[in-house]
Amino acid sequence: MENENRLVIERSYAIRPESNGMTVYDKKKHKFFFLEGLTAEDVHREVPALDCAGFTAFMKAHEDCMTLNTRTDRPLYIGWQLSAECNLDCIYCFADTTLHQGNTTDIADVAKSILALEPVCVGLSGGEPTLNRKLPEIMELFKGRVDCILNTNGTTPLLQHIVPQLKETGTLVRISIDSTSNSVQNALRPVKGNRSLDFDQMRLIRKSVEMLLDADVPLEIHTVVSTRNLNNLEQTAEDLIAMGVRRWHLYRMDPSPKCADIYESIRVDHKEIAVCHRKLLEKYGSKLDITAAADVRTGNRERAILLIDSNGRFMVKGKNQAVIYVGRDPKAPTKEELGEVMDFEVHKRCYYMNYAYQAPAEK
Ligand code: SF4
Repeated sequence: MENENRLVIERSYAIRPESNGMTVYDKKKHKFFFLEGLTAEDVHREVPALDCAGFTAFMKAHEDCMTLNTRTDRPLYIGWQLSAECNLDCIYCFADTTLHQGNTTDIADVAKSILALEPVCVGLSGGEPTLNRKLPEIMELFKGRVDCILNTNGTTPLLQHIVPQLKETGTLVRISIDSTSNSVQNALRPVKGNRSLDFDQMRLIRKSVEMLLDADVPLEIHTVVSTRNLNNLEQTAEDLIAMGVRRWHLYRMDPSPKCADIYESIRVDHKEIAVCHRKLLEKYGSKLDITAAADVRTGNRERAILLIDSNGRFMVKGKNQAVIYVGRDPKAPTKEELGEVMDFEVHKRCYYMNYAYQAPAEK
């Protein structure tokens, strides 16, 4: 037990007690489960060695307790947008809508505020988070106290420099690749100042992937599906498998202001993604763990996503993605202040459903 609010099973699972049960977080797969009516004491009694095999058996034995009925008044996930800068210029990027110029200077202060809210994990993103030179320091502040996820485009040198630290801290790295074909990738996610479709962006990403896998750092690839990469996904699956990747997550494109003009013409709806997901699973499911985001957007996600901008200000997304700052001192909202603004029930469903989605059977 690292502290009274956190139980860790062999660096693979984190358990947070809730008022009527517990949240279980699978760190390597970024999956949340909620077990009603069970306590950390039950885990200690039934899995005295706190080992993965014992805990897997515990989860299996208590399948009936797995529900969405658990209540929580603390965030599961906080997204910290560490850098307002990015070296890419993706056509659908949302960063401009929430980021502000400049990077947080008082990172220790922000980290302290995050830890006070007792999240299960913190997602470090941007912009491109590895462009914030304080990233290693930030990871050190969180080490052993909260799980970290690094959301990166995989193209920067700092990512490769911090591989040992990523391994040591058990950080899950999520790299965005929309296609392993340079021309498709460059069309969707161009390098700033270089619009050439021939630029070998995949060489940079492959190098990062290779280093992360060699060091056994948990890795997941993220792909935003649009009409521009839909026909290329099988090739991407094959290339990912050849690279040694084992986790792949598909997203639907969200309508950011940046892509408002083309959104309708290139979007792929969730039903099409479900069909595509099923076909990919049939063909590559034995080699690649492929998931697709549930269509939580058609439900209510207002006030459910907690973010921190690059100036350290806490905010939630309201109606139409509008930003609502939280707390009197925006750098440090209390749990009570957060509770007044956030909808924790929807928050919980967002993070559970996002990864629980399975492609429905074809009718
Ligand atoms: S890598 Fe991320 S932050 Fe950078 S432009 Fe693309 S979507 Fe935006």
